[in-house]
Amino acid sequence: MHCPFCGADDTKVIDSRLVADGDQVRRRRECVSCTERFTTFETAELVLPRVIKSDGVRQPFDEDKLRSGMMHALQKRPVATEKIDASIHRILHQLRASGEREIKSGHERAEAAGLGGLRALCFGLPRLPGRGSLPRRN
Ligand SMILES: [Zn+2]
Repeated sequence: MHCPFCGADDTKVIDSRLVADGDQVRRRRECVSCTERFTTFETAELVLPRVIKSDGVRQPFDEDKLRSGMMHALQKRPVATEKIDASIHRILHQLRASGEREIKSGHERAEAAGLGGLRALCFGLPRLPGRGSLPRRN
């Protein structure tokens, strides 16, 4: 990273140790150019991206919304709840691992991730019976 003192491109790590119970790396760096020393902390970026709605409003990612959307889409399919949970877990993991700070709502990555999960759940399942063949409730 750039030196915060002189802006030089090159700094070298002179010490590196785990802190915060191993959740963080503390690095002591020295500027190759001006020899100033400084410290950086490195943590994993595991926050979920914010969702940009079509009107431009930013919202926190809503796991419950994803879950209820999937539940709704799958309500007539014989998919076990734990499979849905596993799929949601996978989607959240992908989103966190992507390091993306923002995703667009309703399409692109949010939907791609959601549909990918849905497709995986639905793949190989028998087709739903047509409307006329559904058993009637009394
Ligand atoms: Zn420097």
